[in-house]
Amino acid sequence: MIYTDTRDKNVAVDFKTAVVNGMNAATGGLYVPVSIPKLDSTFLNRVPEHSFRETAFEMAKPFVEGEIPENDLEFIIQDAYPFNAQIVPIDPITYVLELFHGPTCAFKDFGARFMARVMSYFNRGENDNLHILVATSGDTGSAVGSAFHNVPGIDVTILYPDGKISPLQEKQLSTFTGNVRALKVKGTFDDCQKLVKTAFTDADLRNKFRLSSANSINISRLLPQSFYYMYAANVVRNRIPHDSKIEDASIIVTVPSGNFGNLTSGLIAHQMGAPIAGFVAATNANHTIPDWIANGKYKSRASVATLSNAMDVGAPSNYERIAFMYTLDQVRTLFASYWTDDAGTLEGIKSCHEKTGYIIDPHGAVAWSAWNDIRSSGMEKLMNGEADTDSNKPGLTANIPSWAEKITGKKAVGIILETAHPAKFGQTVVNAIGREPTMPDRLEKVLALPDYAIPMEKDYESFKDWLVSNL
Ligand SMILES: *Cc1c(COP(=O)(O)O)cnc(C)c1O
Repeated sequence: MIYTDTRDKNVAVDFKTAVVNGMNAATGGLYVPVSIPKLDSTFLNRVPEHSFRETAFEMAKPFVEGEIPENDLEFIIQDAYPFNAQIVPIDPITYVLELFHGPTCAFKDFGARFMARVMSYFNRGENDNLHILVATSGDTGSAVGSAFHNVPGIDVTILYPDGKISPLQEKQLSTFTGNVRALKVKGTFDDCQKLVKTAFTDADLRNKFRLSSANSINISRLLPQSFYYMYAANVVRNRIPHDSKIEDASIIVTVPSGNFGNLTSGLIAHQMGAPIAGFVAATNANHTIPDWIANGKYKSRASVATLSNAMDVGAPSNYERIAFMYTLDQVRTLFASYWTDDAGTLEGIKSCHEKTGYIIDPHGAVAWSAWNDIRSSGMEKLMNGEADTDSNKPGLTANIPSWAEKITGKKAVGIILETAHPAKFGQTVVNAIGREPTMPDRLEKVLALPDYAIPMEKDYESFKDWLVSNL
């Protein structure tokens, strides 16, 4: 596969270059595949559907063709995914796609574990280890650390702001041994990011070590997230005749979004033939993308802190990919958009629990709120011109997608993406429903592990000295 650049269509690189570079430093643009091939209809239409790993293998093949042979790709997929994405019906027309069954209990495991193995694959045959530097404000670091843990040929250094992440997140970052180390920096997340950025532009350091990033904009994190959309849509399509028995049902996928990588992956699955009729872009108070869909103007802004903090992004980087792949009109045809505030998020956790018995985390709750509003009366009101469409107020934003009549005609079912385990946000869940979610074993275990984080000053010289003596 050839990859081009969102800012320069003349760029043409192979998969390895796109993965190793992360982004195109020359233009500041992001890599995108030049074409997105459709899976063949026998594969797509099979009943019962192919397993998650079979789907992953089939979808990954064209994107790595000529660079990773099929048997190596198969090994990468098996090794990356000893866990599954799981589909849980919570009411007759609503399915939760649980993406938290990986080691860190959040969906970023899907992207990070594939990326780690692909980077290790491309580093084989090199004499020196590749050093990954990653700054984190919470969840990304644990997914990356865990994904690279014990992966050959790669070392990882995670920087996080001391005292500014939750105790559970800190344990998830700082208890690795071996090739993954954590530095707790006496400063803010921005200080951590500055240290990493300075290191990447330090020619002296780059002469000594092979440095790389594990940024969320890396194409090798985006592609694997498309696997679970395809798998889930096929599972749900095959269940509809037994569950709701709706004929010719449309599947609508609601994605709780921040940087919009997850939703971009959904678009890739859609183009590859996943039976998805449309998407709902659901955000918290950081509603840059819903505003763009409603008003036609993209205006990034400073992020605001919310209960669904992994979605606190005011300038979503994958806007650039979406705007490269689609016109605004196409986006408006395919997407509804919605945002809610913290009160709405708490209400979402509560209403999901009351109506269905399912305990959802604050990120998934944003998606539940969106879907529940749309299928109850939100879309109908919007179509009848009865909705308050002020985009500064929470709710469905002023855009009617092509599938709107499927909703009002009761011909649609919804898939909600649940991006983190509710136990990671236990206090918020308690505040909403008065009880704590069950803690999965793997989270409970990590709480008991010893902490190896190394204290670090926020000035660059201290950081560099440490790197030089410890890498
Ligand atoms: C990162 C994250 C999101 C947002 O995903 P994007 O790809 O940035 O839109 C949502 N939920 C959780 C739990 C996350 O960690």
